[in-house]
Parts: sequence; structure tokens; C-alpha cells
Amino acid sequence: MKCGACNVDARMRDETAINLDPIQVGGRLTPEAMKAMISWGDGYSVCDACRKPFRLDYIEQPPLKDFHVDVAEWLGMAQARTVPGARRGFQQVAGTYVEKGDPVLIGALAHYTSYLSVEIQQGVVREIPKTEDNHITAEAAAERIEDVITEFGKPPKLLYIDHVDYQYGNMHDVKGIAKVAHQYDIPVLYNGVYTVGIMPVNGKDLGVDFIIGSGHKSMAAPAPSGILAATEERADEVFRTTQMEGDLTGRRFGIKEVGILGCSLMGAPIVGMLASFPTVKERVNHFDEELANSKIVINALASIEGTKILSEYPRKHTLTRLDTTGSFDVVAQTHKKRGFFLSSALSKKGITGIIPGATKVWKINTYGMTRKQAEYVADTYLEIAETNGLTIQ
Ligand SMILES: *Cc1c(COP(=O)(O)O)cnc(C)c1O
Repeated sequence: MKCGACNVDARMRDETAINLDPIQVGGRLTPEAMKAMISWGDGYSVCDACRKPFRLDYIEQPPLKDFHVDVAEWLGMAQARTVPGARRGFQQVAGTYVEKGDPVLIGALAHYTSYLSVEIQQGVVREIPKTEDNHITAEAAAERIEDVITEFGKPPKLLYIDHVDYQYGNMHDVKGIAKVAHQYDIPVLYNGVYTVGIMPVNGKDLGVDFIIGSGHKSMAAPAPSGILAATEERADEVFRTTQMEGDLTGRRFGIKEVGILGCSLMGAPIVGMLASFPTVKERVNHFDEELANSKIVINALASIEGTKILSEYPRKHTLTRLDTTGSFDVVAQTHKKRGFFLSSALSKKGITGIIPGATKVWKINTYGMTRKQAEYVADTYLEIAETNGLTIQ
């Protein structure tokens, strides 16, 4: 299955192996999304039935209008829009509130795209430090808000918090942090790239102003795709419509939204996301089964002497950070394949998605496995450990 002229191989990763790649497992397409991509892949295909007022979220066929309403309701928010990736959601929110020199508070475990979304506005990032056990707390947020007020003479314009961070897969006290932020009228941006589409998320319960999800990370959707949802109060700001007028022509542009330059996702990304949505909505209710599978794999790894689980324990998420400096890395010191022995041995057993050569600190995401696959992965790690002379406790 090779395209003759372009030299592109067919990608078979998830067809031929069990994938543990932290960023890939929640974004794998459903069969419905694959079909949608074929049928709706042409970029402006969704514009077939675009009628007045000419906006993406009003299109009734495919049912984009209903999709927007359903997503907002599902997240416990007033309104939702699609965005080309979570990062573009950050940018849209920062673009609404942050001007040159304005401070923005960001949890210290945040992704680089959070920082860059402030940088593009020429804002100033101030970080909320993590605790010794790698959590962002309401107390630390409160302290840093006061620090910002002292330094800038005003509170931060925004506060970004990851519900589950990408480094440890730890869960943070969003509710407590939002409560503190709101005492200073600071809008709270909830980063749900590892939660929206993975576990139940309700913005009303959490008390956040914005929820951002990633379609290609956690909603079984093609890239680039994502969701930006807002409360009623904030929707008017972040989804404001154009007031622009051409000075010669007097042209005006109806109700196109400024923050996303009119229409956002088209073709495969939005119809793919829409096609996966029923499955995604259902699967978040079974996150306990995902955690149970994760537990099987993590417990096996933890039983290999010298291995440390760096994430909070017991686990609340399927993304886990491990330190095998005292186990697999000891093997790597003398193995003829050096650090590559581990990825190579896994690969022989049909397990992929771990950075080749990594034997010190690495991450694993068991999301989307069957119970049988989890047991197989657990057994395989134990077997590799034993074969290489490590002790199982
Ligand atoms: C992956 C990731 C992002 C970026 O998501 P995109 O949808 O690719 O823009 C942002 N924040 C965190 C914590 C992430 O892990």
C-alpha cells in the first residue's frame, strides 16, 4: 500500500502492535471517523449546506449545529466551538484577555503551548509552583496571585490549570484553584487535553470559565481538532463577532467570530470529530475499566526491583511517569544494545510507543487497551526484566 509517486508508506502502528504512546492513544480514530474522513475529506465539503448566517456552527447537514450544542451541554458549559487543536483554544482565550505586559498565571507543569499562547500576546507568564509531590494546589495559586498583584499592581488576566498534567498524569485541584481565582475575578482556563473525551468533565461542577479539549489527543478525531467551551458570561467575550468595516467599500461581515477568524474546522477534522462523538460520549463513562487495566501494567512495573512510579499513587489516570534508573537502566549499562534493548525487546513482542533508547525516566499510557492486552503488556515487561536478570518482588 505505497503511493508510487510520493514515497509515503502506509502507517500500521496500531494495526500491528499495542501502542503505549502517551499522546497517541486517546486520539486514535473510530471506524466512524475513518469513514467520515474519506467521505468528507475535501476541505470545504461541510460548506455544501452552509446558508445564512454563513457560519460553521449553524450548518445543519452534516449536523454541526447540533454537535456544538451537544458538546457544550456534555461539558456543562453554555457554548462550545471547534478549534484547530487545544493550543489554538489557548490562543483564542489569551487573545481575548491578554495585552502587552499583562501577567498570566500558569501551573508549572503546563505544556509549552500554554506559555506560547501568552507570548504571542506579549503577555508575561508567572508560574504556580508544584508541590514536592508534583501537584498544583489552591494554596500555591493563592500565594502566586498575591505575588502578581504585588509585582504588577493588578491580578493576573487569566489562570491556566491542567486537570491532568502531561508530565506525571497527576490530577490537580481545579475546583479549589478556580474558587481562589474567582475571589479576584480571574477567569480560569481548564486544560482538558487529557480528560475531555477520556473521563467525565463538567465545567459547572469545576467552576471554570473555559474548557479546552484536544480532538486528536483525546476525542478520537483527526488533527488538527479541538474544543473551546465557555460559560455564558465569558462566551460573549471569547466568541465576540466582527465589528470591522471596509473603509472604502463599507463591507461588513455579519456574525463571523473574530477570535477564530470566522470559521474554524472544516472537512475531515470536524466531521471526524463529529463522527466519533457518540463513542467518545459513551467511553468516558467507562474510565474505571481503563484505570483497572492501567493498574495491572503499573503494578507489574512497580514489582520490578529498582523501579519507581513517579506519578501519584494510586493512579487516577492512565498516563504514568516511571523511573527505571534502578532497573532497566542498570541492564542498559552492560547490554550490547545499550538503552535500546528495552524498546527492541518490546517491539519484538508487538509493543510500541515507548521512546527508543529510554531506560531512565519515561511515560506510558495504557488508555484504550483490552484487559487481555493489559495483562499481556504486564507479563511482557516482567519477562523482559527476568530475562535480563532483574529481580521481581
Ligand atoms: C498535547 C498538549 C497540548 C496541545 O494540544 P493540541 O491539541 O495538539 O494543540 C496542550 N497542553 C497539554 C498539557 C498537552 O499535553
